[in-house]
Amino acid sequence: MVTIGLDLGGGSVQAIAMEGEEVLGEARLKTPATGDRTAVLDVLAAAVHQVRDVGGVAADDVRAVGVGTPGVVIDGTVGGTSNVPGFLERFALADLLQQRVERPVHVVNDVSAATIAEHRLGAGAGTEHLLCVFAGTGVGGGMILGGRPYLGSSGGAGEFGHMIVRQGGAVCPCGRRGCVEAYAGRRAIALAAERAHADGRPTVLFDVMAEHQEERVTSGVVAEALARGDELVADLVDEAVGALGAGIAAAVNLLDVEAVVLGGGLSDRLGAAFRTRVDAVVRPLLFLQPPQVQVTGAALGARAGGLGAALHAADST
Ligand SMILES: [Zn+2]
Repeated sequence: MVTIGLDLGGGSVQAIAMEGEEVLGEARLKTPATGDRTAVLDVLAAAVHQVRDVGGVAADDVRAVGVGTPGVVIDGTVGGTSNVPGFLERFALADLLQQRVERPVHVVNDVSAATIAEHRLGAGAGTEHLLCVFAGTGVGGGMILGGRPYLGSSGGAGEFGHMIVRQGGAVCPCGRRGCVEAYAGRRAIALAAERAHADGRPTVLFDVMAEHQEERVTSGVVAEALARGDELVADLVDEAVGALGAGIAAAVNLLDVEAVVLGGGLSDRLGAAFRTRVDAVVRPLLFLQPPQVQVTGAALGARAGGLGAALHAADST
């Protein structure tokens, strides 16, 4: 039997059809930037149809659909996310999509979905206790404890980006101070660079952005400015390394996981050198010595969310 995984992002919806651990087909559609949640539901349903066509899967062969979505997921409902239209107020995503696709729908947080995929098919395969950290626009996290995804008492576990690593520190996009994401998220890095640049600090960051005709400071732009030896960007990446290292060490000291997987657009772009530096910050901060864990790179890249949503649907049926 086949399951279909949908990864709902602010920019696009990725769909993957899977049978067991084999990928049958993939499709990608644009997420509506405006409108209401009906427009988003229409695109999710269209993605199901399209990936079925690509994979040559008959409607009757689809056992279930999994959706990885930003926001806090409780019993098939989602709310609290501002980067998808109509997803701020809580609503019954599973029920509404189920009516459209006429198949059981199982909803999971997008970072939890990516964690499930890295645990089953990626860099965390074979582990019983795993922490995954994804540094992209923001910073998210997911955990596998005792071989199972740990979602918390109300679905809100894994908010790694909002672990406080510096009391009274930089303002985070969440409005609090000193969170990991205030230093290690692409959005926070771009904001800090804009402020420093406005204060007269030289940087090539915004020139690189213009050269690549980007409208915002992407992870690729950050990586290229760093490679060109930009001092401001080097300082901001130092802060990101320190914040991720402190946060990972605190989480490992609490949970005693076997492995830590670090992924996400920013981490992937900055590459192995970045992960090695984060690992070097983590090691001396670990309570158990010599260190039992190492920070390794995620293996599945941007496909992790769709793969994990499909696996979640199979597990839930
Ligand atoms: Zn925060």
